[in-house]
Amino acid sequence: MSVDWQKAVGLLSVFFLMAACVWEMCRPHSIFNLSLTRRWSLNFGLWVSISILTSLVFRLSPIALAASRPGEFGLLPFLLIVDASLWHIHFSLHRFGVLWIWHATHHSDPEMDASTGLRFHPVEAFLESAVLLGLVWIFRPAVVSVIVFQIIASASNYLVHANAALPRLVENSLQWIFMRPGLHRPHHSVDPNVQKGNYGIVLSVWDRIFRTLHRQTFDPRCGIEGDPPAASIDPVHVLATLPWREWKKL
Ligand SMILES: [Zn+2]
Ligand SMILES: [Zn+2]
Repeated sequence: MSVDWQKAVGLLSVFFLMAACVWEMCRPHSIFNLSLTRRWSLNFGLWVSISILTSLVFRLSPIALAASRPGEFGLLPFLLIVDASLWHIHFSLHRFGVLWIWHATHHSDPEMDASTGLRFHPVEAFLESAVLLGLVWIFRPAVVSVIVFQIIASASNYLVHANAALPRLVENSLQWIFMRPGLHRPHHSVDPNVQKGNYGIVLSVWDRIFRTLHRQTFDPRCGIEGDPPAASIDPVHVLATLPWREWKKL
C-alpha cells in the first residue's frame, strides 16, 4: 500500500498545531480578552475552506507534482530557494497595496496565537500555492525535499505565531538563523511602522540580508489599526469588508 504523503504532511501539521496549543497552555506569553472559541472557529474555518478550495483549484499537490516529474535537485538548495521566494512574497504582500488587501486578513487577528497561522485569505493561499508549484516545476526537486520543506514550514508557522514564551536562551540562540515568536510578534503590531519587517517564514537570514530585521520590544496591540476587535472575528468582515476597505485606501 503506497503512502499518501500529502495527507501524512497534513496530519503532521495538525499534530504541530496541537503541540503548539499545549505549549501555549503551559507557558502563555499574554492573557487574551476575546472569546477563544469565536477566534478559533473563524481561523479553523478559514483553514478548512482554504484547504478545500486550493485542492479544487490546483488539483495537483506540490508533492504529487514532484512525484510526477522526478528530479535530483538537492534538498538544501531547494529549501533555501523556496524560503527565500516566500520571503519575497511576504515582503511584496506588504509593499504593494493590491497584494496587501488580501494579506490584511492574516494581520486582522486581534490576538495572536498558533491559530493565527491558519488565518489567511484564499487569494493569498492561491498565490503561495502557485509559487510553490511553480518552483517544484522549475527545479524538479526529489519528493523527499518537498515533504521536508512542508514539514519544516508547518512547524515554523505554528512556532512563530504561538502565544507562548520561550526560555530567553532558546529565543536568543534561535534568532540567528530561524524565525521565532519574539521576531514575528512585532510584525503583527497595529503600528504600520513596526509591522514593516521580520518577513521571514522559516529562516531569519533573509531579513538580515535585506536589512528588514527589527528587534522591537513587544507591542501588545495586535491587528489592523482602526479595525474593531468584534469585527475582526466576523468572517464576512475579514474575507470581504476588510479587503474592500483596504482597497479603497489605495
Ligand atoms: Zn505579514
Ligand atoms: Zn503572521
